[in-house]
Order: sequence, then C-alpha cells, then structure tokens
Amino acid sequence: MNKKNIKAYGKENLDNPLHEINIVRRTLLPNDIEMNILYCGICHSDLHQIKNDFGMTSYPIVPGHEIIGKVIRIGTDVNNFKIGDIAAVGCIVDSCGKCEYCEHDLEQFCDEGVTFSFNSPDKHLGGMTFGGFSEKYVCDEKYVLHVPKNIDDLAAAAPLLCAGITVYSPLKHWKVGPDKKIGIIGIGGLGHIAIKIAKAMGSYITVFTTSLSKMEDAKRLGADEAVLSTDLEQLNKYLRSLDFILDTVSAKHDVNSYLNLLKHDGSLVLVGLPPEPLEIGAFNVVIGRRSFSGSNIGGIAETQEMLDFCAKHNITAEIELINIQEVNEAFEKLENGNVKYRFVVDMSSLEQSQKEI
Ligand code: NAP
Ligand code: ZN
Repeated sequence: MNKKNIKAYGKENLDNPLHEINIVRRTLLPNDIEMNILYCGICHSDLHQIKNDFGMTSYPIVPGHEIIGKVIRIGTDVNNFKIGDIAAVGCIVDSCGKCEYCEHDLEQFCDEGVTFSFNSPDKHLGGMTFGGFSEKYVCDEKYVLHVPKNIDDLAAAAPLLCAGITVYSPLKHWKVGPDKKIGIIGIGGLGHIAIKIAKAMGSYITVFTTSLSKMEDAKRLGADEAVLSTDLEQLNKYLRSLDFILDTVSAKHDVNSYLNLLKHDGSLVLVGLPPEPLEIGAFNVVIGRRSFSGSNIGGIAETQEMLDFCAKHNITAEIELINIQEVNEAFEKLENGNVKYRFVVDMSSLEQSQKEI
C-alpha cells in the first residue's frame, strides 16, 4: 500500500515527553477522505493512554481523537464530502460493518473490535493507528462527520467529537428530559458539556464536584444546583432525590454514596474510566431496585445527531486553546485538574518549528 510521511506529536515509550515525530498515513483508497487537521481536543482518555493506565498502550503512540479539519482530497468513490468541507473524526475510524452492533448503528461495540483513531491495530498499514496530534488524517468517509455550518468556533466544537457524544448518548438513552431530576458527577471535559446538553434537554441538574472553585461556574454553565461532594452532610441532603446520575470521574471514587441519591428504579451510569475496579455495596442497589450501568462513546449516526443537536442549541465546549509545543504541560495540568474545561490544540502550530513559537 502507498503511504506518505507526515509530521505528528507522539512518544516512543512511557517515559518520554511527547515530541515531534514522523508517521505515515495511507494514500487515499476509493472511499477515503484526507483532511488537514485544524484542531484537536485533549481528552482524559488520551492521558490514560499515554500513561498506559489500562495496560493496553502500544508505543510509539500519537494521541488525539477530537479532530476537526478541512477536507483536502477525496477518493474516487466518495459521495458525501467535497474538497473544502469542514469535517470531523472522533474515536471510531473503522468497524466490521456487519455484526449485530454495526447493523444497529452501535459501531462502538463492534464484535470484531472497533478501530479507534489511535492505538488500535491498523488494518491497512499494519502497526497501530495514529491520532489527531498530526498534520493530516485519512479515513473512510463512513466514519467522518459533517460539522454543521452554523458552528463558527471550530476549536470549541472539537471536544464534542468525544466528550460530546460520550455524554449525549447516555443522556438520550436514559431519556433525560424536562420531567427528570439528574445528577452529574465531576465537572471536567465531559461533565461541563453534559451540563450544557442536559440543560438543552430540559432536565433539572444537580452537579457534584470536588472543586470549590467550580461551584459558581457550574451554575453559569446551566446547572440548577451545585454540591461540594467532599462534604457528606451536603451530599446526604440529596438522598433518594434523583432519577439519573451521570458519573464522569476519571479516578477511583466511592459510587455507593451516589447510588443512595437515586430514587427507586433510578440509574447511575458510569462514563468515566477509573483504571481500578469500583466496589458496589449490595444494599445500595438491591434497595430501591437501583441500577449501576455504563456507556461507551456512541455510534457514528448518533455522533452526527449530537453535532446537529449541539449546533441547534448553540453548544460548544469551554476551552483553553494551546499550541502543540505546550501539550506536555497541558497533560500535566489535566492530570492535576487544572483546566477549564478542555484543552484544544491549534494544530497549525505543528507547522512551525519549536524556535519560532
Ligand atoms: P477530566 O476533564 O479530567 O474530568 C474529570 C473530572 O473528574 C475532574 O474534572 C474532577 O471533577 C473529577 N475527578 C478527578 N479525579 C477525581 C477523584 N479522585 N475523585 C473525585 N472526582 C475526581 O476528564 P474527562 O476528559 O472529562 O474524562 C473523564 C473520564 O471519562 C476519563 O476517565 C476518560 O477516560 C473517560 N472517558 C470515557 C469515555 C467513554 O466512552 N466511556 C469517553 C471519553 C472519556 P471535579 O473537579 O468537578 O470534582
Ligand atoms: Zn475521549
């Protein structure tokens, strides 16, 4: 297969910082589009992966899966994109297309294994896929999203490609709406977009945060109430009051105190990926017939639906825009919870040399 060399930011082992490296992308297959990457968000999953938190990282790694770019080339059989379109790639860049999940637009659970935009076996080139901290992305048009024309701030839209769909999918599946009182745990990249989307869906939102500094902000973002979750007395005021809780916390935490905030038949849905197992006390679920569940990103059709929903409701992320040369510092800040609320990399900075920045 023909390939071409491009610039990227990645690392060859656990201990290295991310730095400029060369990677290859395939030349276009008939159904492929090639995009110049404009912006790429930094998700906590990128951090988990570069640190090998899940023991699944294959080095060299180039992270980045919240990608917005401009289409610069299209394959001979591409129907839905043209050169110059603003397009996006999220977590999923391939799936088998024929298993029961793919047939139901649930490619995220594909039986043969989803190909993720980075750190997944690359069916075409061998080795692993490389993510959005790079000049260009090549992808089958089936997995490429249209960015609605009325979204002006493309940098702030990039986080929708992972954070947005990861919270939209469970909020929709569990039928969050005007008649529901919901909780959101953790106001990070996912949590702050969840507040905005749940608000647009019309529900009454209580957020639970460990950060005093985010309590007022939560209300500005659309929450009706904000609770300092480290204060058990405050937490217990919400016992049996919520229909649904979305848990976006990235580290090990006690879910039992949150299960007790659910009404009977309520669900706590985990989207955060703490690397260690979480313990659940039997009585916290058997009493009140409560459910503890999880959700993983969303399929391609639902991701497009989410982008259209966000465009209609004027929803994008609150971001700190950085150059790629600042990415290691940004990961450090993300690890320390020091970001409001998503770092996005201006990928045009990759063209400039370190000295010019
Ligand atoms: P993030 O920006 O770092 O936000 C996580 C938030 O969790 C923090 O802002 C903090 O909120 C809270 N938190 C962190 N450590 C905590 C601790 N020890 N105890 C209690 N609360 C803590 O991360 P993100 O990008 O939103 O991602 C969140 C998680 O979702 C990550 O594990 C990521 O890998 C995962 N994820 C899953 C999917 C999926 O498909 N399931 C998709 C994308 C990401 P407060 O300051 O408000 O307390
Ligand atoms: Zn992500």
